[in-house]
Amino acid sequence: MKNVVIVGGGISGLSTAYFLKELARENNAGPLNITIVDKKDAIGGNIITELTDGFLIEGGPDCFLSEKPWAMALCKRLGLEDRLLATKSPRGKTYVLSNGKLHLLPEGVILMVPTKMFPLLFSSLMTLSGKIRMGLELFVPKKKTPGDETLGEFVRRRLGKEALDKIAGPLVAGVHAGDPDTMSIKSSFPKFVEMEQNYGSLIKGMLARMKLMKAKPRKGGKPVTMFMTVKGGLGEVVKTLLSKIKDVNILSSTVVSKMENNDDGYELTLDNGNVLKADAVVIATPAYATSEIVKTLDGKLTEKLGTIPYVSTATISIGFKMKDIKHPMDGFGFVVPLSEGRKIMAASWVSRKWAGRAPDDCVLIRCFVGGAFNQDLVELGDEELKQIVLDELREIMGIEATPVICRIFRWRRSMPQYTVGHEERVTEIEELTNAHKGLYITGSAFRGIGISDNVREAEETAKKVLGVLA
Ligand SMILES: Cc1cc2nc3c(=O)[nH]c(=O)nc-3n(C[C@H](O)[C@H](O)[C@H](O)COP(=O)(O)OP(=O)(O)OC[C@H]3O[C@@H](n4cnc5c(N)ncnc54)[C@H](O)[C@@H]3O)c2cc1C
Repeated sequence: MKNVVIVGGGISGLSTAYFLKELARENNAGPLNITIVDKKDAIGGNIITELTDGFLIEGGPDCFLSEKPWAMALCKRLGLEDRLLATKSPRGKTYVLSNGKLHLLPEGVILMVPTKMFPLLFSSLMTLSGKIRMGLELFVPKKKTPGDETLGEFVRRRLGKEALDKIAGPLVAGVHAGDPDTMSIKSSFPKFVEMEQNYGSLIKGMLARMKLMKAKPRKGGKPVTMFMTVKGGLGEVVKTLLSKIKDVNILSSTVVSKMENNDDGYELTLDNGNVLKADAVVIATPAYATSEIVKTLDGKLTEKLGTIPYVSTATISIGFKMKDIKHPMDGFGFVVPLSEGRKIMAASWVSRKWAGRAPDDCVLIRCFVGGAFNQDLVELGDEELKQIVLDELREIMGIEATPVICRIFRWRRSMPQYTVGHEERVTEIEELTNAHKGLYITGSAFRGIGISDNVREAEETAKKVLGVLA
């Protein structure tokens, strides 16, 4: 029987194990002995769902993008179709903090691209010159020179500086908790580059995309919104995956310290001194951890993996009695531009966005701190972080109430940054990895941040593993 070791039991490692088993069964490939090793005691990596006092709290990710179909497809394969949960409204309002006040993101602004001119024209968020500059995007010639540029350069060039400061920075770079002036547009948001090149304008590209989406026949009667999750939280996906891979050995609270290869395949040394033998190894850990694991195997690969930067963030989920909140909370939440000088980057009005996240008489708000500009905040103590959030929610939303619940999760070096030159770095990492037959590296550090991309890569990796073992 062939041995496969998967290092990392996050969504990447777990779904690789699941796809491997499924593909082996479908292709009559014979039994596989699969082992997942994870240094944490709980499996699931960044996915942590907690049920406390009637609140459903997501410590890390809380949804996936339906536009990237792979996470939803996995849920369906796992029998979770009826558990899929759309947002309460198809397109909830988002607010942007500007000069200390919340302003509505103009209707029709998708990610950072305006698709409706009237709401933009009447918006209180942008100055008149900022609005005109955004509209002039239609006439900005497309980039002729090849090569990458930063998100900041791209947005300033196409939509103007104000659009970068008030919309693209907090909303788009915020997804990666990144600095727009280091992030690669090509690797972080390839769709925008395609739109510019194919349509000559983001506005034209986005309108064409919307037309296409409208023309697509709706499958089944269930609503599908831009963001989707699962009724029991993403932890339900982890639980279901685990139930489908019952015969996979799971070694939790175990660190893979190093790996070597010999004529018989790979040997992985664990921190408890045990050694695992493997015909194929999939490493699904953050790039800096993968870099350590392959140190004795390949110095060049180690060096390249170590060049992918990460930033730290924290999520602070805080619940209040509904009767104590005067703010209408009529949307999905708000984002905070850097220029506002605040400590929170964004707040998601979780219980307004999703059903079943708070008791009927309560609201749940999830705030984000840290990221590229404020990483030190992540190291503050719980009380200090809670106070920061309470102070800012008081100033921004007028909340004076005492919370009924507060849960803090710190995510140290958890957000990989696709900085300019990422594409070349990843290509080199892939070439170096390919030189080691039976070694595969996957996860969010490479070709797509987010759960859906992780699942897509996991399936591709499983196919490759099976190919080499056949
Ligand atoms: C706060 C936050 C919010 C997010 N929100 C969203 C969201 O809403 N939607 C979305 O799509 N994405 C979101 N993301 C991104 C998403 O979390 C990741 O894309 C995804 O969880 C990555 O999964 P993974 O399995 O690749 O890595 P991880 O989940 O990081 O798993 C890697 C595993 O490797 C283990 N490990 C590390 N080193 C070793 C070692 N030496 N030996 C053994 N095990 C090791 C770790 O313990 C960990 O369990 C968010 C991320 C964060 C931090």
